Amino acid sequence: MNKWHDYPDAQIRARPRARAFADGFGADWSFADLDRAIAELSDILLASGVRPCDRVMLVLENCNAAVAALFACSRIGACVVPVNARQTEAELARIVGHVTPAVILFTSAASPEARDHAQRAGARPVSGAFGQMHLAAPNPSAPDPDLADVAAMLFTTGTTGTPKGVMLTHENLRFGGLTSANFRGLTQDDVVYGVLPISHIFGLASIVTGSALAGAFVQLDARFAADRAFAALNAGVTVFSGVPQMHALLMQYAKEQGLERLPSGALRYTSSGAAPLDPAWKRKAEAFYGVALQNGYGMTESTAGICASHNRIGDPDISVGPPLPGVDLRIDETIPGGGDGVGEILTRGPHVMKGYYRNAEETGRVLAQGWLRTGDLGRLDAQGNLHVVGRAKELIIHGGFNVYPPEVEAALNDHPQVIQSAVIGHRVGGDEQVLAFVQVPEIGAVSEAELAVFVAERLAGYKRPSRIVLAKSLPAAPTGKILKHRLLTHFADQLV
Ligand code: ATP
Ligand code: MG
Repeated sequence: MNKWHDYPDAQIRARPRARAFADGFGADWSFADLDRAIAELSDILLASGVRPCDRVMLVLENCNAAVAALFACSRIGACVVPVNARQTEAELARIVGHVTPAVILFTSAASPEARDHAQRAGARPVSGAFGQMHLAAPNPSAPDPDLADVAAMLFTTGTTGTPKGVMLTHENLRFGGLTSANFRGLTQDDVVYGVLPISHIFGLASIVTGSALAGAFVQLDARFAADRAFAALNAGVTVFSGVPQMHALLMQYAKEQGLERLPSGALRYTSSGAAPLDPAWKRKAEAFYGVALQNGYGMTESTAGICASHNRIGDPDISVGPPLPGVDLRIDETIPGGGDGVGEILTRGPHVMKGYYRNAEETGRVLAQGWLRTGDLGRLDAQGNLHVVGRAKELIIHGGFNVYPPEVEAALNDHPQVIQSAVIGHRVGGDEQVLAFVQVPEIGAVSEAELAVFVAERLAGYKRPSRIVLAKSLPAAPTGKILKHRLLTHFADQLV
């Protein structure tokens, strides 16, 4: 059977001396170095009693050692569960309880948070060609035969509630890496900026798997900072995939520096994914990068890739493009809120997950006859391009009309003082109110009243927010995606 680690292994055999991965902690590896690190970590895991179908939880920030750990698990047949090191103790404990890992690996060289967690879990240091890690063996765990073909378990972002554990097979990851390498046209000559967390599907499928397949060199970054991203993009990066919020923060930074264009001419491909992209950001970003900003649509449950756009620079189109080769797509208009071409997006193909881990009920709700219900609303245009209009769960029905949050967010984001925004529905009596939360550079940069006038010129009455809360930051996941289900409690004081 084909395995996930066949991708780096092919590069290790063919191009051992080529540069593979470098991180912000001083590691700069060829494929031969990667091979040594994978081999040493595999031995350590086996010596710690890890067997096929065991779970190996990997608490990480983007770093070379984490990449080695992913492929070490694949080589020994264990299921890796990569989670971000910036989670709280309670979040980590919940995952440990759910997946009962045989061991937990902490990339402790990389992250102070991970070091704290490792200490509390009684982890011991292990070191080798991969650098330093910490390893804890918390549970007498039993191999789970359900995981025979499962290479990784990844948690969803938790935008709409508690994150769900998604079982991804070797086949899923191979397909996700292949489509992602193909639509970005990755080659051995590319330098990929790896700032999307590899504990998230967009980082795992595109940054790690796609690059390992194509033999591109990856410059990993442990977290997004606009000034660092700007420096990296000026130092020869050719491919940069981010979430919309990263592009927005980079634009904000460039504006503060009085820069209109990215000085480097090396960048050849940039894309946005994981959350709605709006036309104003696309326009600004293209003027800045000097290349088209592509829009990719996918989810953890679909190993990222469902659709990707083929925009040209300046295109006003903000569709997510046609389905990727090998991906089936259909729109189910029969759901509540559906009709007039808009409905729930369903997808089928080798990218669809095996299921949610230890959650047959939720798996049964979203998977039927090979089709995955995405929970997103969309429509296909005459050219066969998909437009994602919002999430079914987030659809606001106000005064009997459908309000799609991304449309209201796009209107707000058009204001020069708005960095980003998040719109949600809030049930009051029998109706839903439209509430907006807006990130501004400084409180006082713009008032709620000014923004209300600004959006009133752009939106029909029923779409206008009844409240606009201004803030210097919004609760976000490690990718930068806004955690919408936290907004009401986070800003409770300002809403009374
Ligand atoms: P949870 O399922 O835990 O609530 P989540 O859905 O945000 O969190 P992910 O799997 O990380 O977790 O994100 C996938 C979702 O992101 C998609 O279902 C969709 O709603 C949104 N999304 C991804 N790409 C795009 C895009 N290009 N445009 C609009 N929305 C997108
Ligand atoms: Mg989801």
